[in-house]
Amino acid sequence: KRTEVPPSVHKIDPTLVDRRAVDVVRTLQEAGFEAYVVGGAVRDLLLGLRPKDFDVATTATPEQVKSLFRRAFIIGRRFRIVHVVYGRGREHEVIEVSTFRAYMDNAAAEQVAGNERTSKSELAGMTHAVDSSGRVLRDNVWGPQDEDATRRDFTVNAMYYDPQSQIVVDYHGGMKDAQKRTLRMIGDPATRYREDPVRIIRAVRFAAKLSALGFSIDPKTAAPLVASQALLADVPQSRMFDEMLKLLQTGHSIASIEQLRKLGLAKGIYPLLDIVVQHADEPFIKAALLDTDRRVGEGKPVAPSFLLAAVLWEDVRKSWQRRTEKERAHTVPALHEAIDEIFDKRIGEVSGRGKLAADMREIWVMQPRFEKRTGSAAFGLAEQPRFRAGFDFMRLRADIGEVDEALADWWQEFSTADDLRRQDMVDQVR
Ligand code: ATP
Ligand code: MG
Repeated sequence: KRTEVPPSVHKIDPTLVDRRAVDVVRTLQEAGFEAYVVGGAVRDLLLGLRPKDFDVATTATPEQVKSLFRRAFIIGRRFRIVHVVYGRGREHEVIEVSTFRAYMDNAAAEQVAGNERTSKSELAGMTHAVDSSGRVLRDNVWGPQDEDATRRDFTVNAMYYDPQSQIVVDYHGGMKDAQKRTLRMIGDPATRYREDPVRIIRAVRFAAKLSALGFSIDPKTAAPLVASQALLADVPQSRMFDEMLKLLQTGHSIASIEQLRKLGLAKGIYPLLDIVVQHADEPFIKAALLDTDRRVGEGKPVAPSFLLAAVLWEDVRKSWQRRTEKERAHTVPALHEAIDEIFDKRIGEVSGRGKLAADMREIWVMQPRFEKRTGSAAFGLAEQPRFRAGFDFMRLRADIGEVDEALADWWQEFSTADDLRRQDMVDQVR
């Protein structure tokens, strides 16, 4: 049942709505299509938060959307969506526009996928092939708005807001759940986790993000989580890696770890995440997590390399120490060998690992270099493009007493001083 909620009830502050999202909706409506702000943005607006990004849902197809905007790009293979781009450079804003999609349960998706069953996929294992091709197709079958709502995950994530009429459209009692501060899965939770196991992690993420606002996870939504966890084994590692980063980098890492523990998911979601949860109370990792949450809260950028470098630092340090002490290896090569070992053991093959790994390595390799401040060494280090990340990492180590606070202070001053003062500082070292 479709309910239309008027502004007197939902009390959304229109000034929190991005003007570019309003522009996209207006343009689509003027061209004769239905269009709404949808999903997380509506949820955040209802809770009085300023959404960090805006998604729009419409009856227009991607091609029709694209034709209406000067800078619009159809992207994605799994989901075909349109990015409408406003502005340039650092100030640019992307509004994501998607066409209303049909809800298909696994049986319906299998039927659609039927034609796609090739002998090759039969060889690869029938269930898996049907499932994965079914999923790809399922995501791109257009449908009416009520089905578009039903295919979404949580009731508070499945509402539509029309900035023109200021009406919120709600099919699943999302408004009531928002007021009751309840995170509730649409439909039968166990079935929905089976359809897409990543929803397990999303449940944790939203429970964490919204816990500060007094939300709790509906008992029926929480109940099948532990039993469903094994389904995550079928999710591609690269998607798991991305979901782990979202858990840790969207400003609620400490709360997410708390939820993982509370919900009985402390182990087994993803190997690297297990390590984070296991060690989250150790001073250094705790400090890195708190620092990440604080930075996100202040709207500052965070790099996955920094947090992961912190998480694996203890491992790297131990292996490095063993190599230099017992095996009498030279400091720098020993550090590189230790890093190689930990990468293989802890990260494995995930897409984008190359760049990420290079950034982590740079942070780690800089650490012993902070100890050498004589001659031109300090000047050279301060000129490194990733000096800031390396320094922030060292500062964190100093905060927990792993290196001398005075050394961190020295580098803090050196990094902002002019050349004359820098030479002075170097001369005064020992
Ligand atoms: P955030 O504020 O963290 O971006 P969000 O709710 O906007 O949260 P997104 O991942 O950006 O989350 O997804 C946008 C919307 O798409 C969601 O609100 C939800 O309606 C729908 N959605 C996304 N992923 C799934 C999924 N795995 N299953 C069902 N619906 C989903
Ligand atoms: Mg979003």
